[in-house]
Amino acid sequence: LRGRDVFFLTGLDEHGQKVQQAAAKTGIAPQMHCDRLAPQFRNLWERLNISNDAFIRTTDDGHKSVVQRYLQQLYDNQLIYKDDYTGWYCTFDERFWTDKDVENGLCPDCKRPVEQLSERNYFFKMGQYQPRLVAHIEQNPNFIRPESRRNEVLGFLTTQKLGDLSISRPKSRLSWGIELPFDQDYVTYVWFDALVNYISALEYLRPEPLVDRFWPANVHLVGKDILTTHAVYWSTMLMALDLPLPETIFAHGWWTVDGEKMSKSRGNVVDPNKIVDEFGADAFRYFLLREVPFGYDGDFSRTALVGRINSELADDLGNLLSRSLTMIERFANGVIPQSKTTHDLNSKVGEIVARASVHLERLEFGKALETIWELVQSTNQYIDKTAPWKLAKKPDEREQLDEVLFHLAAVLKTLGIILYPFMPSKGEEILKQIGLAWSPSVFF
Ligand SMILES: [Zn+2]
Repeated sequence: LRGRDVFFLTGLDEHGQKVQQAAAKTGIAPQMHCDRLAPQFRNLWERLNISNDAFIRTTDDGHKSVVQRYLQQLYDNQLIYKDDYTGWYCTFDERFWTDKDVENGLCPDCKRPVEQLSERNYFFKMGQYQPRLVAHIEQNPNFIRPESRRNEVLGFLTTQKLGDLSISRPKSRLSWGIELPFDQDYVTYVWFDALVNYISALEYLRPEPLVDRFWPANVHLVGKDILTTHAVYWSTMLMALDLPLPETIFAHGWWTVDGEKMSKSRGNVVDPNKIVDEFGADAFRYFLLREVPFGYDGDFSRTALVGRINSELADDLGNLLSRSLTMIERFANGVIPQSKTTHDLNSKVGEIVARASVHLERLEFGKALETIWELVQSTNQYIDKTAPWKLAKKPDEREQLDEVLFHLAAVLKTLGIILYPFMPSKGEEILKQIGLAWSPSVFF
């Protein structure tokens, strides 16, 4: 929309203990388990009209070889060493905890029982990058967003000593992973493999070289539960590999349903496929982006969804569209009249678009929509005030009528373009109704 060169990557992280366990439970091989799941995600993104340029799966051979190359590089540079480690292990989180972390024999994260485990493992010298990481976060206010999350990460990095990271798992305990290139008795820790996807995808998913063109990434958009792995593990890995860090790591919140946590046992999981079946992808996307400030937790309810569909999409936007199009049809035979619009109206539209664009840049999607709705509502008021149906009855006010209709068409064009990222089908439909085909160049 803004003419920028974009590579939008999404995909699946498929290794690790949880995947191995889930596959064992259904009695199939882990790879087959992953192969069954992958299309479900791909199909959903497609149904939601999500336009990713590439889809990575960390079980791809191309990804594995990049991970192994990086591991070897760190090993050769003495940034990985072998050591004995004894600690409390949480199977669910696939990680060790220290004595002071564990309370009553339970994992501090997931509250499941932990077990004492002693193992010889490989460690990444993560701790030595602590001062550099703190400095980077302090000097780059947009590196971790939203700000509340940034403060959390900074808080723990400035009060606790960052240890080294165990990056191997003995195959005797976990075999579903990428083998260490320097020790075939081990696979690598799932995060050390998964995080590399952001760069490996640029190396092998397309025939043309993309690393120089798209790295460092502008944004990593991740769930708030995996912010630490991104902000701390990935950042220090990149430092060790002598690669630039992404510009922004943005942690999004979680959705509850009718005020309750979504869970299988409660039976209140919202199936996005069903919402799309019932309301369409546009309305669902609109709701998710409009309902809560992006980055924070939000509450999903049918009542709220239906409420927004009725008042904002049908009453505000729908009415504006149908009234404008009907009047252009009736009073100008369906041909948008040429007219010089008054400067005031044009600059008002321009000012609203400019403000919405700033919100988009900052990933403030709710505020962007709120701003766009100022245009929708003020244009509805403009129709009421100018009353084109009255002007149409007086031949000597033809010029004024043309001006109104021309302005309405201009607003519809603006809306078709600026709503496109939120509601692609709606955006295209609006443009089509005023005789324009969608293409990014419409904007320029
Ligand atoms: Zn746990």
